[in-house]
Amino acid sequence: MAAKIKKGDTVMVMVGRSRGHVGKVKKVFPKEKRALVEGANIVKRHLRSRRENQPSGIVEMEAPIHISNLMLVCPNCGEPTRVGFQIREDGTKVRVCKKCGGVID
Ligand SMILES: [Zn+2]
Repeated sequence: MAAKIKKGDTVMVMVGRSRGHVGKVKKVFPKEKRALVEGANIVKRHLRSRRENQPSGIVEMEAPIHISNLMLVCPNCGEPTRVGFQIREDGTKVRVCKKCGGVID
């Protein structure tokens, strides 16, 4: 099963506080089916410094979002779209945009 969302993809967040946010996928967690999206689903973590030279305070970081809550933004038509798969003549699987039919990979 090929991945619908890959690192480096541009995606739109469909639910939650960051709904409508468009950003790049920084990291994918295949087991959890979650992805880190740049600038989306920001959570604040309070850090206490354990060492002298470590800064303490509030750190903002992205929390992973379930892949089912993300939509790929097609690089061909620029629309958030569902992803389909197509087997090419050489047997490789490519992702296709369900809106414009363009190959994404
Ligand atoms: Zn498209």
